[in-house]
Amino acid sequence: MLGFMMRRSLRRMLSFTALSVAIAAVATTTIALVLTARVRADNDRDARAFVEEQRIADHITALTYQQQLDAYRFLLSADSGSIRRFDAKGDVAEAEMRRYLFYTLSTSARLQIERMRELHQAFEVVAHRGFELVKQGDTASARLRLSQLDNDAAQLDDAVSSFLQIRLAQHDALEEKNRSIAQVVRTILILAGVALVFLAMGIARSVSRRVLLPLEHVIRTTEALKRGNADARVGPQEYDELKSVASAFNEMAEQMQLSRDQAEMQNEELRESLEQLHVTQDELVQRERLSAMGEMLAGLAHELNNPLGSVLGMAELLEVEVQSSPQPEIRHLESTVVLPLVREARRARDLVRNLLSFARKPVAALDHVSLADTITSSLSHCAAAFAQSQKNIRVSADAELFVRADGVKLEQVILNLATNALDAMKAGGGTLLSIRAGGDSKTVTVVVEDDGPGFADPHSAFTPFYTTKSSEHGTGLGLSLVQKFVSEFGGTVSATNRTPNGARVTITLTRAEAPVVIPAAEPVPEPSNEVAAAPRGRAPRVLIVDDEPALLEVQRRMLTMAGMTPILASSGAQAMEIIERDPPDLVISDLRMPGEIDGRALLGWLSVAYPPLAARALLVTGEIAHEMDNALPVPTERVIRKPFTLVEYRERVEAALRSDER
Ligand code: ADP
Repeated sequence: MLGFMMRRSLRRMLSFTALSVAIAAVATTTIALVLTARVRADNDRDARAFVEEQRIADHITALTYQQQLDAYRFLLSADSGSIRRFDAKGDVAEAEMRRYLFYTLSTSARLQIERMRELHQAFEVVAHRGFELVKQGDTASARLRLSQLDNDAAQLDDAVSSFLQIRLAQHDALEEKNRSIAQVVRTILILAGVALVFLAMGIARSVSRRVLLPLEHVIRTTEALKRGNADARVGPQEYDELKSVASAFNEMAEQMQLSRDQAEMQNEELRESLEQLHVTQDELVQRERLSAMGEMLAGLAHELNNPLGSVLGMAELLEVEVQSSPQPEIRHLESTVVLPLVREARRARDLVRNLLSFARKPVAALDHVSLADTITSSLSHCAAAFAQSQKNIRVSADAELFVRADGVKLEQVILNLATNALDAMKAGGGTLLSIRAGGDSKTVTVVVEDDGPGFADPHSAFTPFYTTKSSEHGTGLGLSLVQKFVSEFGGTVSATNRTPNGARVTITLTRAEAPVVIPAAEPVPEPSNEVAAAPRGRAPRVLIVDDEPALLEVQRRMLTMAGMTPILASSGAQAMEIIERDPPDLVISDLRMPGEIDGRALLGWLSVAYPPLAARALLVTGEIAHEMDNALPVPTERVIRKPFTLVEYRERVEAALRSDER
């Protein structure tokens, strides 16, 4: 029972309430019915008793009068049968009066019955005295005595009537009492009905409060959930059934939220993938565009290199000639014609070199490059220009920072950014270029900033050929190259403006371990000095091999100007003949030449026939295809790239000649 009360079950509560109401209704109705039945039975019994009492009264009165008649008959005929009949009827009357005593009677009624019995006995005593007198023959006294019976009978009749009056009054009182009881029962029934109505209303209210309100709460919570309020939950409930509903609902809401969270996560992932896809697509398009453009430019640049090489070489030679001319009008040509010619030829060369950079395939394997060293070496190329323009450079890069990159290209990246910063500061103010590098275990970030005017449009800065500089100073390829190289290294680059002014380029690269340093091997002595470099006191004899007469001529003049003896060969085969006849001190060969013996074949033959000559031979090339397909047969310091300047050419040649002396 305690458990029943403790566990708050709605079904039990409702069953309990319904049972209580039913019991109350049944009990009330039963009590009412029992009371009503009892009252009715009481009334019926009383009514029947009263009828019986009336009948008894009538019988007693009738018997008394019949006894009177029997007494008079005896007086007239002295028949003893009349006395017997008189007595028998008297006994019946007496018995009838005694029957009254079986009823429930009031004291006054009982007293009245006693009086009736006394009167009847007195009546019979008077009659028997009269009978005695008749038997004695005293008829006159007997008649007198018997005449007294009328009076006695009338008195008995009155007593019976009085008794009936008393009983009638009693009966009326009982009826009145029962009517009151019935009235009370009716009132109780009405009150019970009203109480039941109130009880029903109370139960309805209680059910509504305990069941409907929680259900409305559930409905409101469902609506809230439908409207997108994911936190909507059903609160704690009092009853077991509602607790189950609430916990099932809350579980469902949790599940929904979980599913929604998962869906949102998947959406987010999809969105990110889509964005990544767009970025990759843009990059691919950009790369595709650059690669197509690169191929086209490579062809164009290669075709331009040879004539440009001749023009630049000739122009520089002309400059020297003009400078040393004794005629003032010729010397005057230096500033008006020759210098602009040299400058424009150099600009054309720079442009072609930049164009060629686009065509270069990414290097197959990236190195572990020291960032600090690369920055230092890049800046060494432009430090003089910064100093000349009174602009400062501040570098902060940890010596431990290594990145995955190609050293030469990374150098060009930094150089391009530094040159751009210098140009911007020269044109729009600002004095400081700052290069900072830092990183975590995976990436290294390089920030190149200046306090110049900033980008006119940072979004267009990486677009090929976008430039705000005059055609004399800008090609619009510097930042495109930066982006191309950085993406080859697997990194990213972005351009923004600083507040309040200045430009910022941020590069992110993959961090690399410091390379393992292998100790340099002992220099191996030259196997033979069959062909030594120029002996002291004699001008070095240098064999130039080139199929382009103009370039042959340019080189001839450059060597002559450097005090060397040029020997010319216009093909590989001719060069071999000359070498076999009289080996020179140095061979400088064009890489690509018509005929069977090109520069590569000539070098191959030399390395077998004249190893020392092969070891210091120089290769002149304007080719990009060879770089991409096969490694060049000589180290980079022995490659002269077309178009070359007088200074570059001379340096390379002298270095090659010197290499033999070491
Ligand atoms: P170029 O230098 O030949 O114009 P780039 O691709 O290197 O080509 O640069 C493109 C353009 O980006 C420049 O013309 C210039 O407008 C802008 N730019 C590059 N660097 C800076 C800088 N540090 N400050 C302001 N503008 C810059």
